[in-house]
Amino acid sequence: MAETKQEQVPEDGFTLYDLKIEVEAGDKPMVCSHHVGDWFLAQGENLIFPEGAAFSMYALAAILPLLPAKQRPLQENDWMLSDAYIACPDPNCGARFHITRTGKRILRHGDCTVVPLGAQKE
Ligand SMILES: [Zn+2]
Repeated sequence: MAETKQEQVPEDGFTLYDLKIEVEAGDKPMVCSHHVGDWFLAQGENLIFPEGAAFSMYALAAILPLLPAKQRPLQENDWMLSDAYIACPDPNCGARFHITRTGKRILRHGDCTVVPLGAQKE
C-alpha cells in the first residue's frame, strides 16, 4: 500500500482556516468609507490589515461574530459553510464583505490556552 504524505499534526493540534475578508460592490452605491477591494485577513486569533489601511468599525462589528465559525471545519450541510457574504450594517449602503478561506494552519491547544485538554467536559 502506498503511503500518502500527511502534514505533521502535533498531539494537541487543531486546524483553523485562514480567511480573507474583502469588500465587494452590492446592488446599491456604498455610503460608508469602504472601497471595492479593501481587505483584511484573519489568521488564528489575529486580524491583519494592510499597512495604513482603514476599515469601518461598524462594518467590522458586523463581520467579527462570524469569523471564528468560518475558521473552523464545518459540516457539509451547515449554512455557515455555504454563506460567505455579510452586508454592511448601514441599510443604505451597498457594500458586501466576502469571506474566503485562503488556507489551513495547525495550531496547538497549549499555545492558545492554559486550560488543560480534557477539562472541557460538558
Ligand atoms: Zn457601508
